Amino acid sequence: MKIAALAGGVGGARLAHGLSMGLALSGSAADLSVIVNIGDDFEHYGLRICPDLDTVCYTLAGIGSPQTGWGRQDESYRAAEAAEKLGGPAWFRLGDADLGTHLERTRRLREGHPLSQITADFCAAWGISCRVLPVSDQPVPTMVLTEDGELPFQEYFVHRQCQPVVKGFRFEGAAQSQPAPGVLEALNEADVVVFCPSNPWVSIDPILAVPGVRGALSRKPVAAVSPIISGKTVKGPAAKMYAELGIAPSALAVARHYRDLLAGFILDRMDECYIEELSRWGIIVNATQTIMAGAEGRIRLGCEVLEFCKAILNAQKESTA
Ligand code: GDP
Ligand code: CA
Repeated sequence: MKIAALAGGVGGARLAHGLSMGLALSGSAADLSVIVNIGDDFEHYGLRICPDLDTVCYTLAGIGSPQTGWGRQDESYRAAEAAEKLGGPAWFRLGDADLGTHLERTRRLREGHPLSQITADFCAAWGISCRVLPVSDQPVPTMVLTEDGELPFQEYFVHRQCQPVVKGFRFEGAAQSQPAPGVLEALNEADVVVFCPSNPWVSIDPILAVPGVRGALSRKPVAAVSPIISGKTVKGPAAKMYAELGIAPSALAVARHYRDLLAGFILDRMDECYIEELSRWGIIVNATQTIMAGAEGRIRLGCEVLEFCKAILNAQKESTA
């Protein structure tokens, strides 16, 4: 079974890791392609930073920080401290080992290599056996429309710590962008597409905004895992964003967000109350423990999602038979 997963950073990386471990058990992790959000990408100290791509790659490579879920394990900050002492900006800190990634990526981008190729080469160097694809080789930066005006994503997310009240989002340059090489192929070849439990507004929507992605998805069964449990996020501003946009945050709101695309939806046992309504929409629903604690939690949910994907395919076969 071939799987294409759409992912942002922390929540996306955790499930992508679980799926890759689950597929490795039953056959081959090479059957997984992870299509990653690039809306958070920005320049800092003249370097190209791709937070979600790096979180996904570090996690899959087993070199990510288990404490934060982003950045690298056993990281030090000597370069950042030295730069800050000289008056450099301190609101976004890059670790020493992490800096190596940004230096080499920036060097290769300046030489004209596309981000997708650089990412593939980094993955090979890190020993990652599934495919990791930035959704586009062109920058498509997320702009957050707030009551304090329009803010670039990192300005909102890190510098302003998600404080400004959100009014909407804009994915700059999305209409002119193209999917990176391999993205449409991965979607077309997939038996099932999985939306990881990533932020629907600023992790999954920016992937869907790249022309061609929605079209490819509309021909595939899509299964999404809710990042919202009991109305709250495990981490990050997704629930706050729903509330500020006038939508009660819940697993149901996430399912409604993706409704036109969904064949299946996985929500937490705490949210079983929504199963009846979702079934009425014609969506296959599964309730399980969706919090991924440690590597065991990831592999458990990864395997459950793979079983769920098989169930969706079987249900579709039966309905066409
Ligand atoms: P970001 O780019 O680092 O913000 O990462 P994502 O958008 O991929 O993930 C953020 C979302 O992941 C948040 O809405 C969290 O609620 C969700 N999340 C993080 N860990 C877990 C988990 O273990 N289980 C589930 N279901 N969601 C999670
Ligand atoms: Ca992100």
